Amino acid sequence: MQALVLEKTKSLALRDFPIEEPLGAHDVRVRIHTVGICGSDVHYYQHGRIGPFVVREPMILGHEAAGVVTETGAAVTGLGVGDRVCMEPGIPDPNSRATRLGLYNLDPAVRFWATPPVHGCLRPDVVHPAAFTFKLPDNVSFAEGAMVEPLAVGLHAANKARLRPGDIAVVLGAGPIGMVTALAALAGGCAQVIITDVQAPKLALAAKLGPILPVNVREQDLKAVVNRLTGGWGADVVFDAVGLPQSANQALDVLAPGGCVVLIGMPGAPVPLDVVAAQVKEARLETIFRYAHVFPRALALMGSRKIDVRPLITDAYGFADAVAAFDYASNMKPTSVKVQITL
Ligand SMILES: [Zn+2]
Repeated sequence: MQALVLEKTKSLALRDFPIEEPLGAHDVRVRIHTVGICGSDVHYYQHGRIGPFVVREPMILGHEAAGVVTETGAAVTGLGVGDRVCMEPGIPDPNSRATRLGLYNLDPAVRFWATPPVHGCLRPDVVHPAAFTFKLPDNVSFAEGAMVEPLAVGLHAANKARLRPGDIAVVLGAGPIGMVTALAALAGGCAQVIITDVQAPKLALAAKLGPILPVNVREQDLKAVVNRLTGGWGADVVFDAVGLPQSANQALDVLAPGGCVVLIGMPGAPVPLDVVAAQVKEARLETIFRYAHVFPRALALMGSRKIDVRPLITDAYGFADAVAAFDYASNMKPTSVKVQITL
Protein backbone atom coordinates (compact mmCIF):
# COMPACT_ATOMS: atom_id res chain seq x y z
CA MET A 1 0.00 0.00 0.00
CA GLN A 2 1.03 3.63 -0.46
CA ALA A 3 2.42 5.09 2.75
CA LEU A 4 4.31 8.15 3.92
CA VAL A 5 7.65 6.65 4.88
CA LEU A 6 10.44 8.29 6.83
CA GLU A 7 13.41 6.63 5.09
CA LYS A 8 15.97 8.32 7.32
CA THR A 9 16.56 11.76 8.86
CA LYS A 10 15.30 14.50 6.49
CA SER A 11 14.20 11.98 3.88
CA LEU A 12 10.48 11.28 3.33
CA ALA A 13 8.86 9.31 0.52
CA LEU A 14 5.30 8.60 -0.46
CA ARG A 15 5.75 5.09 -1.78
CA ASP A 16 4.54 1.54 -1.83
CA PHE A 17 5.19 -0.10 1.51
CA PRO A 18 4.04 -3.67 2.07
CA ILE A 19 2.49 -4.35 5.47
CA GLU A 20 0.81 -7.60 6.46
CA GLU A 21 -1.78 -6.91 9.15
CA PRO A 22 -4.02 -9.83 10.02
CA LEU A 23 -7.32 -8.91 11.66
CA GLY A 24 -7.49 -10.39 15.16
CA ALA A 25 -10.77 -11.32 16.83
CA HIS A 26 -10.72 -8.11 18.91
CA ASP A 27 -9.49 -5.81 16.11
CA VAL A 28 -11.09 -3.55 13.56
CA ARG A 29 -9.76 -2.50 10.17
CA VAL A 30 -10.05 1.24 9.61
CA ARG A 31 -9.77 3.12 6.33
CA ILE A 32 -7.84 6.25 7.27
CA HIS A 33 -9.50 9.56 6.35
CA THR A 34 -7.55 12.34 8.12
CA VAL A 35 -4.19 12.41 9.88
CA GLY A 36 -2.80 15.37 11.81
CA ILE A 37 0.90 16.16 11.79
CA CYS A 38 2.32 16.26 15.30
CA GLY A 39 5.44 17.97 16.54
CA SER A 40 6.88 14.52 17.22
CA ASP A 41 6.40 13.46 13.57
CA VAL A 42 8.22 16.61 12.46
CA HIS A 43 10.95 15.99 15.03
CA TYR A 44 11.58 12.45 13.73
CA TYR A 45 11.64 13.84 10.17
CA GLN A 46 14.17 16.54 11.01
CA HIS A 47 16.30 14.80 13.66
CA GLY A 48 15.64 11.05 13.34
CA ARG A 49 15.19 10.58 17.06
CA ILE A 50 13.41 11.73 20.21
CA GLY A 51 15.33 10.88 23.35
CA PRO A 52 15.92 7.13 23.40
CA PHE A 53 13.69 6.49 20.36
CA VAL A 54 15.85 6.36 17.23
CA VAL A 55 14.66 5.77 13.66
CA ARG A 56 16.91 2.95 12.42
CA GLU A 57 14.75 1.58 9.63
CA PRO A 58 12.16 3.12 7.30
CA MET A 59 9.08 3.98 9.36
CA ILE A 60 5.59 5.17 8.44
CA LEU A 61 4.78 8.46 10.22
CA GLY A 62 1.52 9.73 11.74
CA HIS A 63 -0.42 8.99 14.92
CA GLU A 64 -3.37 11.45 14.98
CA ALA A 65 -6.01 9.71 12.91
CA ALA A 66 -9.69 9.38 12.14
CA GLY A 67 -11.34 7.10 9.61
CA VAL A 68 -14.07 4.57 8.84
CA VAL A 69 -14.36 0.98 10.06
CA THR A 70 -14.26 -1.40 7.07
CA GLU A 71 -13.99 -4.77 8.84
CA THR A 72 -14.53 -6.07 12.36
CA GLY A 73 -12.97 -9.04 14.14
CA ALA A 74 -15.17 -11.94 15.20
CA ALA A 75 -15.32 -10.89 18.86
CA VAL A 76 -15.88 -7.16 18.31
CA THR A 77 -19.11 -5.71 19.65
CA GLY A 78 -20.00 -2.04 19.80
CA LEU A 79 -18.33 -1.12 16.51
CA GLY A 80 -19.57 -1.92 13.03
CA VAL A 81 -18.62 -1.47 9.39
CA GLY A 82 -19.20 2.14 8.35
CA ASP A 83 -18.68 3.63 11.80
CA ARG A 84 -16.70 6.87 11.82
CA VAL A 85 -13.96 6.56 14.44
CA CYS A 86 -10.71 7.87 15.81
CA MET A 87 -7.98 5.76 17.30
CA GLU A 88 -5.85 5.98 20.39
CA PRO A 89 -2.36 5.38 18.97
CA GLY A 90 -0.75 3.63 21.94
CA ILE A 91 -1.48 -0.07 22.36
CA PRO A 92 -0.36 -1.39 25.73
CA ASP A 93 0.21 -4.99 26.73
CA PRO A 94 -3.07 -5.91 28.46
CA ASN A 95 -1.23 -8.18 30.89
CA SER A 96 1.42 -5.71 32.00
CA ARG A 97 1.47 -4.46 35.58
CA ALA A 98 1.07 -0.84 34.41
CA THR A 99 -1.99 -1.71 32.36
CA ARG A 100 -3.57 -3.71 35.17
CA LEU A 101 -3.07 -0.70 37.45
CA GLY A 102 -4.80 1.57 34.93
CA LEU A 103 -1.53 3.31 34.04
CA TYR A 104 -1.45 1.84 30.56
CA ASN A 105 0.27 4.89 29.07
CA LEU A 106 3.26 4.04 31.26
CA ASP A 107 3.50 0.42 30.10
CA PRO A 108 7.12 0.00 28.98
CA ALA A 109 5.89 -2.39 26.29
CA VAL A 110 3.34 0.05 24.82
CA ARG A 111 3.39 0.07 21.01
CA PHE A 112 2.76 3.67 19.94
CA TRP A 113 2.22 4.63 16.29
CA ALA A 114 5.20 6.32 14.66
CA THR A 115 7.47 5.79 17.63
CA PRO A 116 10.30 3.62 16.34
CA PRO A 117 10.17 0.80 15.51
CA VAL A 118 6.31 0.93 15.33
CA HIS A 119 4.74 2.14 12.08
CA GLY A 120 2.30 5.04 12.09
CA CYS A 121 -0.98 5.59 10.28
CA LEU A 122 -0.18 7.71 7.21
CA ARG A 123 -1.39 4.91 4.96
CA PRO A 124 -4.75 3.84 3.51
CA ASP A 125 -5.72 1.46 6.29
CA VAL A 126 -4.72 0.13 9.69
CA VAL A 127 -5.70 -2.75 11.92
CA HIS A 128 -6.32 -1.56 15.47
CA PRO A 129 -7.73 -3.00 18.71
CA ALA A 130 -11.43 -2.17 18.99
CA ALA A 131 -10.79 -1.26 22.65
CA PHE A 132 -8.67 1.70 21.47
CA THR A 133 -11.04 2.75 18.68
CA PHE A 134 -13.77 5.29 19.46
CA LYS A 135 -16.91 6.25 17.56
CA LEU A 136 -17.18 9.92 16.56
CA PRO A 137 -20.39 11.75 17.48
CA ASP A 138 -22.42 12.56 14.33
CA ASN A 139 -21.59 16.26 14.54
CA VAL A 140 -17.83 15.68 14.86
CA SER A 141 -15.93 15.68 11.55
CA PHE A 142 -12.98 13.48 10.62
CA ALA A 143 -10.72 16.53 10.92
CA GLU A 144 -11.95 17.07 14.47
CA GLY A 145 -11.63 13.35 15.15
CA ALA A 146 -7.96 13.57 14.22
CA MET A 147 -7.63 16.33 16.85
CA VAL A 148 -8.72 14.05 19.68
CA GLU A 149 -5.17 12.76 20.14
CA PRO A 150 -3.57 16.15 20.86
CA LEU A 151 -6.64 17.22 22.86
CA ALA A 152 -6.19 14.10 24.99
CA VAL A 153 -2.86 15.50 26.16
CA GLY A 154 -4.56 18.68 27.37
CA LEU A 155 -7.34 16.75 29.08
CA HIS A 156 -4.89 14.45 30.82
CA ALA A 157 -3.03 17.53 32.07
CA ALA A 158 -6.32 19.05 33.30
CA ASN A 159 -7.10 15.80 35.13
CA LYS A 160 -3.68 15.77 36.75
CA ALA A 161 -4.19 19.38 37.90
CA ARG A 162 -7.42 18.34 39.70
CA LEU A 163 -9.04 21.59 38.58
CA ARG A 164 -11.80 23.15 40.61
CA PRO A 165 -14.56 25.42 39.29
CA GLY A 166 -13.36 29.00 39.24
CA ASP A 167 -9.64 28.27 39.07
CA ILE A 168 -7.40 30.75 37.30
CA ALA A 169 -4.91 28.93 35.10
CA VAL A 170 -1.83 29.95 33.18
CA VAL A 171 -0.78 28.02 30.08
CA LEU A 172 2.80 28.65 29.02
CA GLY A 173 3.01 28.31 25.25
CA ALA A 174 0.33 28.73 22.56
CA GLY A 175 1.42 25.91 20.25
CA PRO A 176 -1.08 23.14 19.45
CA ILE A 177 -0.69 21.51 22.86
CA GLY A 178 -0.89 24.84 24.71
CA MET A 179 -4.09 25.66 22.82
CA VAL A 180 -5.80 22.35 23.56
CA THR A 181 -4.66 22.58 27.18
CA ALA A 182 -6.33 25.98 27.46
CA LEU A 183 -9.54 24.50 26.04
CA ALA A 184 -9.31 21.54 28.43
CA ALA A 185 -8.71 23.87 31.38
CA LEU A 186 -11.84 25.89 30.54
CA ALA A 187 -13.88 22.72 30.06
CA GLY A 188 -12.54 21.55 33.42
CA GLY A 189 -13.99 24.57 35.17
CA CYS A 190 -11.37 27.31 35.00
CA ALA A 191 -12.89 30.78 35.12
CA GLN A 192 -10.07 32.27 33.09
CA VAL A 193 -6.96 31.10 31.32
CA ILE A 194 -3.93 33.27 30.69
CA ILE A 195 -1.87 32.00 27.77
CA THR A 196 1.64 33.08 26.82
CA ASP A 197 3.67 33.02 23.63
CA VAL A 198 5.96 35.22 21.56
CA GLN A 199 3.98 34.86 18.31
CA ALA A 200 1.23 37.46 18.05
CA PRO A 201 -0.98 35.54 15.55
CA LYS A 202 -1.10 32.49 17.85
CA LEU A 203 -2.11 34.67 20.80
CA ALA A 204 -4.77 36.42 18.72
CA LEU A 205 -6.23 33.03 17.77
CA ALA A 206 -6.13 31.80 21.37
CA ALA A 207 -8.00 34.88 22.55
CA LYS A 208 -10.94 33.90 20.31
CA LEU A 209 -11.33 30.45 21.87
CA GLY A 210 -12.97 31.53 25.14
CA PRO A 211 -12.13 33.52 28.28
CA ILE A 212 -8.44 33.33 27.38
CA LEU A 213 -6.19 36.29 28.03
CA PRO A 214 -3.17 36.39 25.72
CA VAL A 215 0.18 37.60 27.04
CA ASN A 216 3.02 38.23 24.64
CA VAL A 217 6.00 37.65 26.91
CA ARG A 218 8.20 39.64 24.54
CA GLU A 219 6.22 42.76 25.39
CA GLN A 220 4.40 42.07 28.65
CA ASP A 221 5.38 40.91 32.12
CA LEU A 222 3.46 37.71 32.84
CA LYS A 223 3.78 38.05 36.59
CA ALA A 224 2.29 41.54 36.54
CA VAL A 225 -0.68 40.27 34.51
CA VAL A 226 -1.25 37.30 36.83
CA ASN A 227 -0.96 39.52 39.91
CA ARG A 228 -3.44 42.00 38.50
CA LEU A 229 -5.94 39.24 37.76
CA THR A 230 -5.55 37.46 41.09
CA GLY A 231 -5.06 40.34 43.53
CA GLY A 232 -1.39 39.42 43.84
CA TRP A 233 -2.14 35.83 44.89
CA GLY A 234 -0.97 33.94 41.79
CA ALA A 235 -2.50 31.36 39.47
CA ASP A 236 -4.13 28.25 40.93
CA VAL A 237 -2.68 26.08 38.19
CA VAL A 238 0.15 26.61 35.71
CA PHE A 239 0.50 24.31 32.72
CA ASP A 240 3.95 24.31 31.13
CA ALA A 241 3.35 23.50 27.47
CA VAL A 242 6.75 24.90 26.49
CA GLY A 243 9.35 22.68 28.14
CA LEU A 244 12.16 25.20 27.83
CA PRO A 245 14.98 25.10 30.41
CA GLN A 246 13.56 28.08 32.31
CA SER A 247 9.83 27.42 31.95
CA ALA A 248 9.28 25.25 35.05
CA ASN A 249 10.79 28.01 37.20
CA GLN A 250 8.64 30.60 35.41
CA ALA A 251 5.63 28.45 36.24
CA LEU A 252 6.57 28.42 39.93
CA ASP A 253 7.07 32.18 39.86
CA VAL A 254 3.44 32.91 38.91
CA LEU A 255 1.90 30.08 40.95
CA ALA A 256 -0.37 30.71 43.93
CA PRO A 257 0.53 29.22 47.31
CA GLY A 258 -0.78 25.64 47.36
CA GLY A 259 -1.10 25.67 43.59
CA CYS A 260 -0.22 23.05 41.02
CA VAL A 261 2.27 23.06 38.15
CA VAL A 262 1.73 20.50 35.40
CA LEU A 263 4.80 19.83 33.29
CA ILE A 264 3.69 18.95 29.76
CA GLY A 265 6.46 20.10 27.41
CA MET A 266 9.59 17.98 27.40
CA PRO A 267 12.89 19.81 27.84
CA GLY A 268 15.64 18.50 25.58
CA ALA A 269 18.02 18.01 28.52
CA PRO A 270 17.92 17.99 32.34
CA VAL A 271 16.92 21.41 33.70
CA PRO A 272 17.66 23.15 37.00
CA LEU A 273 14.59 23.59 39.22
CA ASP A 274 14.28 26.09 42.08
CA VAL A 275 13.13 23.59 44.69
CA VAL A 276 12.85 26.18 47.47
CA ALA A 277 10.58 28.33 45.31
CA ALA A 278 8.33 25.28 45.07
CA GLN A 279 8.60 24.47 48.78
CA VAL A 280 7.69 27.90 50.10
CA LYS A 281 4.43 27.65 48.13
CA GLU A 282 3.95 23.96 48.88
CA ALA A 283 3.56 23.65 45.14
CA ARG A 284 2.23 20.38 43.79
CA LEU A 285 4.25 19.29 40.75
CA GLU A 286 2.58 16.96 38.30
CA THR A 287 3.94 15.44 35.12
CA ILE A 288 2.23 13.74 32.23
CA PHE A 289 3.32 11.19 29.64
CA ARG A 290 0.83 11.12 26.77
CA TYR A 291 -2.59 10.26 28.34
CA ALA A 292 -4.86 7.51 29.51
CA HIS A 293 -8.65 7.03 29.66
CA VAL A 294 -9.52 10.38 28.05
CA PHE A 295 -10.54 9.70 24.42
CA PRO A 296 -14.25 9.12 25.25
CA ARG A 297 -14.29 12.32 27.31
CA ALA A 298 -12.61 14.30 24.53
CA LEU A 299 -15.26 13.08 22.09
CA ALA A 300 -18.09 13.85 24.50
CA LEU A 301 -16.76 17.39 24.96
CA MET A 302 -16.46 17.86 21.20
CA GLY A 303 -19.91 16.43 20.58
CA SER A 304 -21.52 18.82 23.06
CA ARG A 305 -19.41 21.70 21.62
CA LYS A 306 -18.13 22.43 25.09
CA ILE A 307 -14.78 22.12 23.32
CA ASP A 308 -14.45 23.31 19.73
CA VAL A 309 -11.09 22.52 18.12
CA ARG A 310 -12.08 23.62 14.63
CA PRO A 311 -10.33 27.03 14.81
CA LEU A 312 -7.07 25.16 15.46
CA ILE A 313 -7.20 23.19 12.20
CA THR A 314 -5.47 25.72 9.98
CA ASP A 315 -3.93 23.80 7.06
CA ALA A 316 -5.05 20.80 4.99
CA TYR A 317 -3.12 18.83 2.36
CA GLY A 318 -4.04 15.88 0.18
CA PHE A 319 -2.17 12.58 0.62
CA ALA A 320 -0.34 13.11 -2.70
CA ASP A 321 1.15 16.28 -1.16
CA ALA A 322 2.07 14.63 2.14
CA VAL A 323 5.79 15.39 1.79
CA ALA A 324 4.96 19.05 1.09
CA ALA A 325 2.73 19.04 4.16
CA PHE A 326 5.65 17.86 6.30
CA ASP A 327 7.98 20.44 4.77
CA TYR A 328 5.42 23.11 5.61
CA ALA A 329 4.89 21.75 9.15
CA SER A 330 8.66 21.84 9.67
CA ASN A 331 8.67 25.58 9.08
CA MET A 332 5.13 26.82 9.73
CA LYS A 333 3.90 30.36 9.50
CA PRO A 334 2.93 31.72 12.93
CA THR A 335 -0.71 31.76 11.75
CA SER A 336 -0.71 27.95 11.48
CA VAL A 337 -1.52 25.65 14.39
CA LYS A 338 -2.44 22.20 13.08
CA VAL A 339 -1.58 20.80 9.66
CA GLN A 340 -3.62 17.80 8.57
CA ILE A 341 -3.42 15.38 5.65
CA THR A 342 -6.60 13.99 4.06
CA LEU A 343 -6.38 10.58 2.42
ZN1 LIG B 1 0.43 14.01 18.56
